[in-house]
Amino acid sequence: MSSVVSGVLQKYSNDAGRLMDILLDILAENGYISDEDITSLAAGLDMSSADVEQTVSFYHFFARKPMAKYNVYLNSSAIAVLKGREKIATAFERESGCSFGKVSEDGMISLDDCADIGMADQEPAALINGIVFPNLTAFRVKELVRDMRKGLSVDDLRSHGLGDGMNNSEYMKATVTNNIRKKGAVIFSEYQGGSALEKVKADRMSQEQLIDLVKQSGLRGRGGAGFPTAMKWDFCRKAKGEKKYIFCNADEGEPGTFKDRVILTERPRLIFDGMALAGYAVGAEEGILYVRYEYMYMKEYLESILTEMRKEKALGKDASGIKGFNFDIRIQYGAGAYVCGEESALIESAEGKRGEPRDRPPFPVEKGYLGMPTAVNNVETLCSVAKLVTNGVEWFKSLGTGQSTGTKLLSISGDVKYPGVYEVEWGFSINDILEMSGGDPAAVQAVQVGGPSGSCVGPNEFERIVSYEDIATGGAMMVIGEDHDLLQDVVLNFTEFFIDESCGSCSTCRALTVMYKKTLEKVLSGDGRRKDIDAMLSWAPIGKASRCGLGQTAMNPICTSIKNFRYLYEGHIKNANEQYEGGFDIAKAVADSCEVVGRRPNL
Ligand code: SF4
Repeated sequence: MSSVVSGVLQKYSNDAGRLMDILLDILAENGYISDEDITSLAAGLDMSSADVEQTVSFYHFFARKPMAKYNVYLNSSAIAVLKGREKIATAFERESGCSFGKVSEDGMISLDDCADIGMADQEPAALINGIVFPNLTAFRVKELVRDMRKGLSVDDLRSHGLGDGMNNSEYMKATVTNNIRKKGAVIFSEYQGGSALEKVKADRMSQEQLIDLVKQSGLRGRGGAGFPTAMKWDFCRKAKGEKKYIFCNADEGEPGTFKDRVILTERPRLIFDGMALAGYAVGAEEGILYVRYEYMYMKEYLESILTEMRKEKALGKDASGIKGFNFDIRIQYGAGAYVCGEESALIESAEGKRGEPRDRPPFPVEKGYLGMPTAVNNVETLCSVAKLVTNGVEWFKSLGTGQSTGTKLLSISGDVKYPGVYEVEWGFSINDILEMSGGDPAAVQAVQVGGPSGSCVGPNEFERIVSYEDIATGGAMMVIGEDHDLLQDVVLNFTEFFIDESCGSCSTCRALTVMYKKTLEKVLSGDGRRKDIDAMLSWAPIGKASRCGLGQTAMNPICTSIKNFRYLYEGHIKNANEQYEGGFDIAKAVADSCEVVGRRPNL
């Protein structure tokens, strides 16, 4: 057993439940997880090698072989494509002398694609050895590769200066920019750390009274589903279990979403106070903040906030001076898997397993982390709780609409002048959003509301109101200008994203996503028929039988774009004869084969 593995096992007391942390530490130290590491871990954790391997193989960032000195993961999301990703990819290949999926001959540089990295407001962007490099240009790529060849450390590659706000702190030193374009009343207004818990203590609020306060506020989960927060907490409080847990879901992996990145950067204390309030309400002693791997650059900074809170006794025994309230928080990082944003998958991952969603019931509030009642809340939801406790229910209800109280953070990206984070009261229209962010309604083809799993809407729906009453959103708003090929650059990209991110458990998700892609490609190639378009619409109910939201919504990019942009699909139909099946193009097939064997086609 290597000294690295034995040291890490000791650090986590040989606890198999901390396998994710163990693997992340080995990855940070060695750059990959070797066969020997897996054998040693299995022995040290009293597991089979297959069990360790199945966790390792699930996550994108757990490399299984030695990587290059500099590992470049270039974001391939739809927004990155709209912002010129292909030029950047070509520049990396030209400068490094290697192609994507490969390591350069000198072993210095590897190039890989990756799914969204939470930087849609500053694309094209890449992760290099876990550090974010946003706003890339071909010239910047040239500089970066030149500096890699010189052997500069990855920290020293950040010669273009650091970002704003806390990105600039000694803990983060990140080149990321916050891009906070609009500060609203809840998340980005002033907050004195600890004041929400002070209020609970001063008012001698019971668990029930706190839950009732949240109920009166009308607060609903900000992740997109809109489940009433108070109801979730009440279920968890009443559920039987020796221990209870609070999770804050900061795994925002939905392409186009980056608002949690900014809250984690600028308002971590608001999040942690919200978690403490949730812990108090349900009777939990431990809170776990689950953060996506792409935000690893924040780890030290977030840990420093928790250390401060422990020093001021806001965490620990009798936390915030509330007698009998013993509560602490730990941070759990993921390793690259979009599906872990689903609450039961997130819990599986935090237990050290593959992030596969569980069958429900039982729901996490009854049987969640380690089989105990667990409440999983969104970052923004927990921040809203801290603010509404501090400022009062009436204040909170005065914001937004009847059924959608408070504010909503939007991650606006794409073809707008001012991409970034906007905190607005619920009840605005898509046209309002375009006006705010500098989008030209006359030049906008579509807005993707709520990320790939949301809706692709056209100008005839831009007066719709973003709220739980009309068109709900988890926060992503991707604006797609007229100049782009909506089906090729956006819809196909989203469909491929779902294929890559499906955990593969349900046949309805595993197979249907591929069927959608193949049929869309057939239409785009000109071989499709109108019946193919109708077939794609008719398959949607099959996907709804999938176990989790990924499979249940994976058809949305295609189905909502057919509904609103059917003319784009029909524009690709070349043959009106519905009887004739033109799915096979012999000339193209021969040309492809000739390319593989290096012959000239002779048709
Ligand atoms: Fe996995 Fe897809 Fe099924 Fe969800 S719907 S559990 S991602 S296969």
